[in-house]
Amino acid sequence: MPLQDLGWDPFFEQHFIPFAAKNCYPGRVCREHKHLFGVLCETGEILAEISGKMRYFAETRNDYPAIGDWVALQPLPGERRAIIQGVLPRKTCFSRKMKQEYTEPQILAANIDTVFLVSALNEDFNVRRIERYLLLTYESRALPVIILNKCDLTEEWAERVLEVEAVANGAPVYPISALTGVGLDFLASYLLKGKTVSLLGSSGVGKSTLINALFGSQRQKINDVREIDGRGRHTTSFRELIVLPNGSIVIDTPGLRKVELWANEEQLENSFKDIELLAQQCRFGDCQHRTEPGCAVRRALEHEELDEGRYRNYCKLQREIRYLDFKQNQKIHLLEKAKWKRLAAQKRKSDKRHPSL
Ligand code: GDP
Ligand code: ZN
Repeated sequence: MPLQDLGWDPFFEQHFIPFAAKNCYPGRVCREHKHLFGVLCETGEILAEISGKMRYFAETRNDYPAIGDWVALQPLPGERRAIIQGVLPRKTCFSRKMKQEYTEPQILAANIDTVFLVSALNEDFNVRRIERYLLLTYESRALPVIILNKCDLTEEWAERVLEVEAVANGAPVYPISALTGVGLDFLASYLLKGKTVSLLGSSGVGKSTLINALFGSQRQKINDVREIDGRGRHTTSFRELIVLPNGSIVIDTPGLRKVELWANEEQLENSFKDIELLAQQCRFGDCQHRTEPGCAVRRALEHEELDEGRYRNYCKLQREIRYLDFKQNQKIHLLEKAKWKRLAAQKRKSDKRHPSL
């Protein structure tokens, strides 16, 4: 399969140059086993393991490959296996914040071009949740497409579309029904050869139904193939990155299905530009929008020009982000310390070996 069909482009080509000089070849991670990765390359899927050097120098889990990553592979003569010598920079990347005490984000998937943010037009419909998913998508740098599924269940889908468009920052919003097939044509224009899409949304909104409606039974067939892992055992782990017969690429990982928020203040500002603009009009530069005189945010809330729920969501996200920033800074500090310790130990070792240096 040509690399272009897997999403290879000049960006990756450029970053691959130093690896090409070392006789490596490129591949894209399509599945994760315990210590091995399934990697798609020009000759098909191979198994690969990361090099000892990479393992040694990895400072965070982000230095390890994730589904969708492009990696540099060193061939093992006579084997359909390879050693991963490096991960190419990610064009886009989805991460999940970890539990409180461990706030380094975990990479869930890399190099997704378009994300379908799926919600259902039923009693669970929630604009605030869509705002969170949007924020997460901006943080990933992928292109968001908002899908309101189950439009067959409500007469009020047009009102809902307007409600979502009001917070969507220009992202397209499509009311569809995965069940009846209404609106699926719109989505076809995002399923392009060599482009990677993924679906995000709470459980029950209809992601699996939509995948089946869009791709039919193709996906199941591709995944039904049982594979043999590096130790000669049969595995049933399914491929999380799939090239569909129409040429588009789908990433569907269990982790992505339950993402949480991981973003920073800058992205928050981008998603809530209206509130940031208001805040700039407050009399005091450090206005907390509580009881300060001349507060433009409070004024807008009182005149119902700013939706109370949207504002509360903004405040909640802001608190969350500040807390995460604080934890992350602590973590970076600890990592730096560990790195210097390691370098110092290495130096001591080499000093011992070469006393004259
Ligand atoms: P997932 O958890 O997001 O993968 O959701 P599923 O695809 O499993 O769908 C959850 C339920 O919603 C199933 O019972 C589907 O039949 C139903 N469903 C999915 N899409 C639609 C739709 O467009 N309209 C209606 N009425 N039901 C749907
Ligand atoms: Zn204010």
